[in-house]
Amino acid sequence: MTAGAARMPAIFFGHGSPMNAIERTRYSGAWHRLGDALPKPRAILSVSAHWYTRGTAVTAMDRPRTIHDFGGFPQELFEVQYPARGDPELAGRVRDLLAPLEVPLDQTWGLDHGSWSVLVHAFPQADVPVVQLSIDGTKPPRFHYDLAKKLAPLRDEGVLILGSGNVVHNLGRIQWVEDVRPYDWAARFNDKVRDCLATREHGALIDFAALGEDARLSVPTPDHYLPLLYVIAQQREDETVSFAVDGIEYGSIGMLTAVIGLPAG
Ligand code: ZN
Repeated sequence: MTAGAARMPAIFFGHGSPMNAIERTRYSGAWHRLGDALPKPRAILSVSAHWYTRGTAVTAMDRPRTIHDFGGFPQELFEVQYPARGDPELAGRVRDLLAPLEVPLDQTWGLDHGSWSVLVHAFPQADVPVVQLSIDGTKPPRFHYDLAKKLAPLRDEGVLILGSGNVVHNLGRIQWVEDVRPYDWAARFNDKVRDCLATREHGALIDFAALGEDARLSVPTPDHYLPLLYVIAQQREDETVSFAVDGIEYGSIGMLTAVIGLPAG
């Protein structure tokens, strides 16, 4: 990344099962290729479904720990470390951009698997500093979209804004079977979101609950959907959305990865 380089893309990753971190799947393969195609960022600001808090905070430690925030997976997954540095200066910049909202500089969190399970593929060298921004679970979707707009200048400062969640995420309906057919409501909701992304219907994406029963089943809780709003809020007039990979796993987990502003070639 050189001074005056092009604006950084913004990316929503559908992270799905943490096993994608250690398995070569069509998703992890796509994340790897996407990383190869990206200009190297100065830093990454990650909004993960797995840091869902009261209030908004930003990680500000030099050395964020790798958090294994899941259970029931093989030991190999618990041994994964993602040793990227933090970026306290970027954390301060984020806090300033989001003022007057109070955004505490956090010293306790780190990198949860929403971040590292995709970063191990997209940036396997772990040589780009990563800062996480938490999601205030008490706030409505519009709040997150409007808040995220304030982060827009970062893209011109070499910062890659990353959201990590899943467009469709219903753990109660999950079927732990490979290649199982998606639920109809999951497929319909995923298609609708994808159409709205392609046609820049941000209002419909913010007001996703208006999509009725398909939305209620696909987004039973908003934690995995909201990171998408942080990404679409970055879209400028001259930018289109591309899809690095898509699919629905285990019937009810949408794996769409959407990229805003990736220069052609
Ligand atoms: Zn998750």
